[in-house]
This record gives sequence, structure tokens and C-alpha cells, in this order.
Amino acid sequence: MKIVYVDMDDTLCDFSGAYLKALSNNPSIRYPQSQYRFFADLQPIDGAIETVSDLIRSDEYDPFILSAPSTRNPLSYAEKREWVEAHLGYDFCKRLILCAYKGLLKGDVLIDDNIEGKGQEYFEGELIHFGSDAFPDWVAVRRSLGI
Ligand SMILES: [Mg+2]
Repeated sequence: MKIVYVDMDDTLCDFSGAYLKALSNNPSIRYPQSQYRFFADLQPIDGAIETVSDLIRSDEYDPFILSAPSTRNPLSYAEKREWVEAHLGYDFCKRLILCAYKGLLKGDVLIDDNIEGKGQEYFEGELIHFGSDAFPDWVAVRRSLGI
């Protein structure tokens, strides 16, 4: 089975949309992502939940969520776990890895909207750059994975 890591912010869930919305609601706020429930209430990106659900059912892939926490916001650790249970179910929480340095993880594929900055550049498997021209959405990712 191929181990696939999936990022959260702006890959599984719409961090940027919520960030901009919080700023427009309250322009004086400095760090919208530090507000209580910011991470728990993020909306899933179209196709993300369906794809991860299909990966867990497949015989070919072993999916995990690999997310770098917002280290200045301790709530983000708990809220990310809460988000996973709400959208993917409790069992998937056992597949949630919060790690500030993604290069340490062994695996075959990393799906991430950032290709560097949190150790992505040292990940030894294939990097699928979510949101890039080659992989603008989950439809393109699914096609690449053959699911
Ligand atoms: Mg991200």
C-alpha cells in the first residue's frame, strides 16, 4: 500500500477563505487564525472529503493527514483533531499527524499546497502541489492517483 499524506490548510480545508472573511469582518484583527474555533470551523474544499474517504477504502493507498500546527495557537492542535472527527469520523483521528517538519515522515505521496517551508522540500516521496497548474483541484489529484 502506498502511504499518502494529505495537508489540511488550503488542501483539505479552506484556510484562506476563512482568513479573508475574518479580516473583512474585522479589519483591525491581526491574526484571524488565532481566534477561538478558527480551525475547527474551516469549510472543506470541494472534493477533499470524498477523495480521502475513497483513499481509505482503496486497496492501493493508506492515507494520513499531515498538518503543521499553528504553533502560536495551541488551540489549533485540538481544533484540527476536532475538524477531522467532524468531517471524516473518529477513526480517522488515528491517522492525524501534527508535525511542524514534514520532511521527517516516510511515505510515497504528499499532497500539499505548499512545496516548501514546513519540510515539504525534504519529503522523499512524490509531492503533489495542490492548487498548482498541474493540480488545481481534487479532480486533478484523483486523476493522478488513479481513483
Ligand atoms: Mg497547507
